[in-house]
Amino acid sequence: MVRTTAVATCTTDIHLIKTAAWENAIGKVIGHESVGVVEKVGSEVKDFKPGDRVVIPSAGTDWHTPMAQRGEAKYYQHNNPYFSDDPMVQGNFSEYVRAIDADMRLAHIPDNVTDIQAIMVPDMVATGFTGIERMNVQFGDTVLILGIGPVGLMGVAAASLRGAARIIAVGSRPNTIELAKQYGATDIVDYKKGDILTQVMELTNNKPVDSVLIASGGNPDEIYTTAMKSVKFGGTVACVSIFFDDENVTLQLDVWCQGRNRDKSVIKPVIVI
Ligand SMILES: [Zn+2]
Repeated sequence: MVRTTAVATCTTDIHLIKTAAWENAIGKVIGHESVGVVEKVGSEVKDFKPGDRVVIPSAGTDWHTPMAQRGEAKYYQHNNPYFSDDPMVQGNFSEYVRAIDADMRLAHIPDNVTDIQAIMVPDMVATGFTGIERMNVQFGDTVLILGIGPVGLMGVAAASLRGAARIIAVGSRPNTIELAKQYGATDIVDYKKGDILTQVMELTNNKPVDSVLIASGGNPDEIYTTAMKSVKFGGTVACVSIFFDDENVTLQLDVWCQGRNRDKSVIKPVIVI
């Protein structure tokens, strides 16, 4: 049982309130990003004790499933209030949270990290870093980050840590542009100053990028098309933005069959979500 000390609101929470898109979330406490102090522990908990400061991960993965252990954690979120049909699995916007499977899910917060700093970890850091991890960014890569809200900014930081040589960040707000530069962005593209693809290709001298992280809101058709047209043959596009069942994406066909390489070969970017 964790006593909540800080929570963060996610666009997922807001979308759910507006649309009730996920049936299992209806009637439940919302929220999936929180940190707090352990109040009491069950008899089988080994790694945590009352008084410990902890992060509760947002995903709610059931790590007992072989599929989750094999790398498909996203699809086995049995402890996530929005996906679980168990009424006992509730969201985190409450004074106390029952953290299921504590040893496999909670993380200790170091003494020199404040609660407000740690609240970035359960979703913003974890999501941005997971996207870059799935993109398999290598030393020297050129990486395009579409969107520099909190998750995109963490994507910039992660790409930098993975050794990307060039990190092109797309955004428009001065404060997030400044942060993107601090986290390692080498180039900034302001989508309000013109077409994103044109600006990116000017920067790279028409060379497609190695991988793209989609971390923005906006029109999914335009976002996906820009991503697919920017990436090289065999490159990777990862999407960490959330789209719902009632949304469709229309792609220009040439992003699949010819794309920027114009070499008549079939472009097969890998999309990981
Ligand atoms: Zn979230």
